[in-house]
Amino acid sequence: MSMNRREFLKRSLGGAAAGATAAGDAQAFSLARPDKQLPPQALGMLYDSTVCVGCKACVSACKQANGQPAAMPAELARWNEGTWDSAQDLDGRTLNVIKAFVDGTREVKDREKDGFAFVKRHCLHCVDPSCVSVCPVSAMKKDPKTGVVTYNKDACIGCRYCSYGCPFGVPQFDLTVPFGRINKCEMCSHLLAKGGIPACCDVCPTGASLFGPVAALQEEAEARLAAKAGSRYEFPRGSLTEKRPRYEGVVAQYADGVYGVKDGGGTQVRYLAAVSFEKLGLPKLPEHSFAAIAEGVQHTIYKGFIAPLALFGGLVVLVWRAVRRAPHDPGRSDPSHGSRPS
Ligand code: SF4
Ligand code: SF4
Ligand code: SF4
Repeated sequence: MSMNRREFLKRSLGGAAAGATAAGDAQAFSLARPDKQLPPQALGMLYDSTVCVGCKACVSACKQANGQPAAMPAELARWNEGTWDSAQDLDGRTLNVIKAFVDGTREVKDREKDGFAFVKRHCLHCVDPSCVSVCPVSAMKKDPKTGVVTYNKDACIGCRYCSYGCPFGVPQFDLTVPFGRINKCEMCSHLLAKGGIPACCDVCPTGASLFGPVAALQEEAEARLAAKAGSRYEFPRGSLTEKRPRYEGVVAQYADGVYGVKDGGGTQVRYLAAVSFEKLGLPKLPEHSFAAIAEGVQHTIYKGFIAPLALFGGLVVLVWRAVRRAPHDPGRSDPSHGSRPS
């Protein structure tokens, strides 16, 4: 099996946690520090894959709102020049992308066998983010009030630890600017600061991307899970805190619960889907965040260094004192007197 450098580093950084997941060994998590909790005024998004029609209006709106150019892969450029944003995955200039799961004949939406489903990929604004934990210069920051994870390009030294540490592969390096820079969704913080809402939620025609307080979004997600599959449902659009005409649709047969409640320590972007989350590329993660596990292990190791360091320090003092008290050796030069050996 081949493994590229990014994959190797990612596995190395998350190695302890990933290994523990595979082993299912609760003892492996015993060193984890306590998990961080959702801030009381946490803001987030609910993405319901069953309501998404794959129009990608959210991708274009994201580009416009964040001043990023349309993506044009070389294989599409010949017939598609300048007409459509064709981002195929997250990259240094694409903070949000709609991807598709497909199987067999791809006949039916939201079906695993011979079906297809959409998934929206961007930063999940983790409750206890690895990107913040691994950043050596605190360029990644989690707002203590809203929990939104932002990035300070002036502080960033370009080490890309955040890219390797993120379990969702979100932060991407933009090499098109001098010295490069990391890019990722910051929940349109510049729009939130002016009382607006994220561009992707603002533009979404069906409410598949919905903005609001995380607690209210979770309630909305649970209401959908509790509703009868096939029944009519009025899906809120834009933001849960504003009154917009709703999108009338049908409740799907949801596959699992809500992704992001506990996964990887919890996320402020939550997901609903009719196909399994893993098929949509949302990884199975332990309930502890990688940050909690890694920091817990590190602190234990550092704590373990204290006794040997104290012993070493003591030995240095003893040797120093012994050398000072030792009788003068006439065969050696004494630098304090400035003489040279003859
Ligand atoms: S998804 Fe990745 S980039 Fe976003 S907050 Fe979590 S660890 Fe950081
Ligand atoms: S919140 Fe803003 S930056 Fe994030 S995906 Fe939506 S439009 Fe893009
Ligand atoms: S705008 Fe809404 S419906 Fe269209 S692709 Fe994005 S999330 Fe899906």
